[in-house]
Amino acid sequence: MSRETYTAHSIINGQPYCGTGTLEVLCPADNSVVALVTEADTQATELAIQSAEKCFNVLKSSTAKSRADILYRWYQLIMDNQTHLAELVTLEQGKPIKEALAEVVYAAGYVKWFAQEAERAYGAVIPAHTLNHQLTTVQQGVGVVVGITPWNFPLAMITRKVAPAYAAGCSFILKPSELTPLSAIELAKLALEAGFEDGALQVLLTSKPHALVAQLNSHRAVRKLTFTGSTSVGKLLLEQTAKSAMRTSLELGGNAPFVVFDSADLEEAIEGLMIAKFRNAGQTCIAANRIFLHSKIKSQFISMLKERVSNLTIGSTQDADIGPLITICAKQKALGLVAGALNQGAKLVYQGEELEGNFMSPVILEGIKPDMTIFGSEIFAPVVSVIEFETEAQVIDMANSVEVGLAAYIYATDIAQIHRVSMGLDFGMIGINEGAISNPAAPFGGMKQSGLGREGGAQGLSEYLEVKYLCQRTIVN
Ligand code: NAD
Repeated sequence: MSRETYTAHSIINGQPYCGTGTLEVLCPADNSVVALVTEADTQATELAIQSAEKCFNVLKSSTAKSRADILYRWYQLIMDNQTHLAELVTLEQGKPIKEALAEVVYAAGYVKWFAQEAERAYGAVIPAHTLNHQLTTVQQGVGVVVGITPWNFPLAMITRKVAPAYAAGCSFILKPSELTPLSAIELAKLALEAGFEDGALQVLLTSKPHALVAQLNSHRAVRKLTFTGSTSVGKLLLEQTAKSAMRTSLELGGNAPFVVFDSADLEEAIEGLMIAKFRNAGQTCIAANRIFLHSKIKSQFISMLKERVSNLTIGSTQDADIGPLITICAKQKALGLVAGALNQGAKLVYQGEELEGNFMSPVILEGIKPDMTIFGSEIFAPVVSVIEFETEAQVIDMANSVEVGLAAYIYATDIAQIHRVSMGLDFGMIGINEGAISNPAAPFGGMKQSGLGREGGAQGLSEYLEVKYLCQRTIVN
């Protein structure tokens, strides 16, 4: 890919919109400017809403089959362009190319899944209370949807929302992260090429999300907000959408426990942890954040882990295992959490060499206790924080003691124990002897302050549908 700086624009009503002001997109590997993006202003936002409203009326009279066909073409175009998309993700987000390629396939998987689900938005016939009544339900698209997405999966977090919305017959206004707008623009261009109507997917780019999103959320034509990002911003947006009682889905932060019992296959548990902890340099919402080790296997597990971690390669080369963190600030925040834990009494087990720029070597800490700051924080970096436990009840209690409940992982071979612990954990997704749990066919989402609603699976389509009940009486003369 050429490293020449280029200029990118929002997409409104199927066309590039040259906005006012510019936002610089940086490459996390060296913090160089890779693109300039013109910013959407209030006029651009109003135009996008008008176009989305008009398009929703067009989509209302389209068939599920025609939308499914267009989604399938989008899926094929994403797969045909996978190398280009992956290079763009690596450039603006920093993950190694092998992970970026995996993200393209994962992102495309949602488009394919919802191309298939589009034709399954069934209604129902309800047994009536009299002989001359017919009671039925139909499902219809909710209307104009606003979607806000984070930087850590610049493609997949978009397709997981746009594909079900389009399948349901909704028009979509996307505000991607200001850190990774380029992947969003490419995805939208491919959607238009696949046959998305003008106004069916529009992209608004800005470095001032608060003002732009507040304008969208207060508009009478917008009927739903779907957000993926931090719990703090999610709660702020929920306050905004409460004002118009707008439907709201939130995919927020996590703090996943990764529990290894003494009955676990330790080799398997290490494999699972390498994926759940180090994918995307630890910058995933379902990243293993608190590693609970049973006292009987703790020392053995830590020495096996040290061996694996010390062999990880960090850098921006094609075959690196860990790329840069998204920003210098993100690295400083993670190093601050490590320093804070050491001050509060944690023990440093492993720390790789100090690296330049946004690159950060893995760290392993043990002796973490529930009252330490790091225990309640989403680390979002390659830091393993180990907590020792003795009993099942104790580990369930500690795992559940945080405010969020997105993903959890259990490694054990005792079936009864697996059942008891899975039922006891207050988390929306549980990996059992498995560190890679995401799948377009399965519901993704969390309990407590990790969010509202689910994405993917059959549930992912319902988030964009209204149920309409028809009560028809036959008039008997
Ligand atoms: P973030 O909350 O800072 O930003 C997310 C999006 O919200 C971005 O598009 C940003 O521009 C926008 N935004 C920020 N402030 C806003 C405001 N005041 N008003 C309106 N919009 C605003 O999160 P991030 O740093 O981009 O992403 C990391 C977070 O996302 C982590 O907490 C991670 O756990 C979470 N996440 C959750 C999931 C999930 O499925 N649950 C998936 C990926 C990431």
